[in-house]
Amino acid sequence: MTGSQRPKLMKYRSFGKTGFKVSKLGFGAMRLPIRWDGSCDYNKSVPIIKLGIDRGINYIDTAHGYIRGTSEVAVGKAIKGYDRSKLFISTKIVQSSSDNVTRFRRRLEESLKRLDTYIDVLHVHGLTWDDFNDYVKGPNGTLEQVRKAQDEGLVKHLAFSSHDSAESIEKLIDTGEFESLTLQYNLLDRHNEEVIALARERGMGVAIMGPLAGGNLGSIRVPGLSESKKMSNIRLGLRFVMLNPNVDVTLSGMNAIGQVEENCAIVSEDDSFTEEENKEIERMVNENKKLADTYCTGCGYCMPCPNGVNIPENFRYYIWYKVWGAEKQAKDAYRKLTPAGRDAPWGARGQWGRVYGKAAYLCVECGACEPKCPQKIPIIKQLKEVAKTLA
Ligand code: SF4
Ligand code: SF4
Repeated sequence: MTGSQRPKLMKYRSFGKTGFKVSKLGFGAMRLPIRWDGSCDYNKSVPIIKLGIDRGINYIDTAHGYIRGTSEVAVGKAIKGYDRSKLFISTKIVQSSSDNVTRFRRRLEESLKRLDTYIDVLHVHGLTWDDFNDYVKGPNGTLEQVRKAQDEGLVKHLAFSSHDSAESIEKLIDTGEFESLTLQYNLLDRHNEEVIALARERGMGVAIMGPLAGGNLGSIRVPGLSESKKMSNIRLGLRFVMLNPNVDVTLSGMNAIGQVEENCAIVSEDDSFTEEENKEIERMVNENKKLADTYCTGCGYCMPCPNGVNIPENFRYYIWYKVWGAEKQAKDAYRKLTPAGRDAPWGARGQWGRVYGKAAYLCVECGACEPKCPQKIPIIKQLKEVAKTLA
């Protein structure tokens, strides 16, 4: 890709002290098209990522665990033939209590092999303040491993992603060990707004995941709301995040050519909100209050449920009902949740896919899921509420 071929409308920002100029829209490679066996469909995925690069996206975000490791392979295939020095590849590796140094290094080597290139920014995936103290810092900790990989030229920058409390994230920032971070932030969930500003102040690069609230902002059409005003919730949600001056790159999980085109068009728009958009934002902020105790991002960390309950899907329908007032849609979808699976819309733009799993009323309250939820949702209690509301 030469400079003259690159569309002029993509916008770029300096990514903290890394010295790299990243595109304001980043390619999230967690929702790429998949095959029947759950692995990435490379024939479909690679052209989608390539189109993003051709449209000027240079920040591509994946993770060791995304799509059972095949997301990294897809990214590795897609970037072949491009000037590597113009791309910024981010991946993430989990550090958990049962891990040891050897295991982290093995995962790093797997990621490098799948990507078939060095890593620009390596995230400690889903880092908590407790994990930082227990396993990351200190002798034989993850930090030591990463510094070694940096000396070997395998990794350029160190970052973290986190769903921990804002207070803990502030402490992680204050360690001064990380050059950038990836946090969740969107119109319906602004609790990280202050730590994002702090990270920016400290010269860190700021990447945002979940700009569409795990699909909640775009998965349904509500009559009378923004769609009828020729303004999609997707556009509003993305612009809201991108227009925050403390955000460098907004990651959108794209899995269709049309999404890449649409998102690139959104990022090219003027840097201000219209009066109509401001009104919509106010409305969304009010909706946010209704979400307070049920903010499920659809991350899936609580899964699998040993009893087959599809936890995020149940919560998704509940949010349709409770927040958006789409009562019939929510009840119909809930009724069709079965272990055999059914075709249903999923993802930020309501793409069709197969949804598996049982409805909320079949939860046996074993408790296996709750400790795994980064949003600290009281899952058992909430599932009871879902069952009562949507039955
Ligand atoms: S508490 Fe319910 S939803 Fe959670 S893992 Fe157990 S059966 Fe599944
Ligand atoms: S319940 Fe929690 S862990 Fe499960 S998908 Fe929702 S936010 Fe993620």
